[in-house]
Amino acid sequence: MLWKCTVCGMTVEGNDAPDKCPKCGAPKEKFVQLSEEEAKKVYVSERTNDIHMEIIGYCDKIFRLCKEGIDLDLDPPCVALFNNAKDEIYTIKQRSKAEIAGHVGKGKW
Ligand SMILES: [Zn+2]
Repeated sequence: MLWKCTVCGMTVEGNDAPDKCPKCGAPKEKFVQLSEEEAKKVYVSERTNDIHMEIIGYCDKIFRLCKEGIDLDLDPPCVALFNNAKDEIYTIKQRSKAEIAGHVGKGKW
């Protein structure tokens, strides 16, 4: 069973609601059990959301590499390529973040 804190939105798995919310400390009474349909949304979206978060992590790494390449300034084509990649990777990152935000709004998280 999946329980949701009505104060902060934290979800917790278990046969019963936790004594207190692990995020905000709200008492057990503040938890509601998610319906089967609501819980299914959370479970089926879990891996996809993880993939988005992993992509965001790679974006940060690529962004840092681009900045390092720009600072090294080997030649103008390289600097231009790193600048383009830096802009493109920011778009990829923001797109995944927006998708996750959409999922959260639909209970898919
Ligand atoms: Zn909470």
